[in-house]
Amino acid sequence: MPEKTTGSCLCKSVKYIINEEIQSVVNCHCNTCKKITGGAFETIAVIREKSLEIVEGEGALSTYQISENARKHFCGNCGTPIYNLHKKYPGRCMVQIGSLDQPGLVAPAVNIFCESILPWVREIGVLTCFERLPEK
Ligand SMILES: [Zn+2]
Ligand SMILES: [Zn+2]
Repeated sequence: MPEKTTGSCLCKSVKYIINEEIQSVVNCHCNTCKKITGGAFETIAVIREKSLEIVEGEGALSTYQISENARKHFCGNCGTPIYNLHKKYPGRCMVQIGSLDQPGLVAPAVNIFCESILPWVREIGVLTCFERLPEK
């Protein structure tokens, strides 16, 4: 794992650097995180807020107040979720690992909010896999 990790949104308006080694990666299966990402769950790297440096496109970042405590930051141009802040975790920043330029360099260690996990997520490893979009 390199010391500096880079990330960006789909349209490349927003680019960032994480100036610390990513040590904590979590899958969150709560229903809010499903809505935040539009996916089955959210995978986030928990880092120090001061380690996240937006190097391009600060003005393109939009925010949405998820709840009294949590705020989502995403590219206002292409919609890619970039990070969340939560008042319960001051000084911390939850970065969406799908926005990392090399998301394969990190891996989650735990699942949280499994009370809301979609049952099929536990079975995902046994599904038939295709390297690319299969022929019809
Ligand atoms: Zn974008
Ligand atoms: Zn969640």
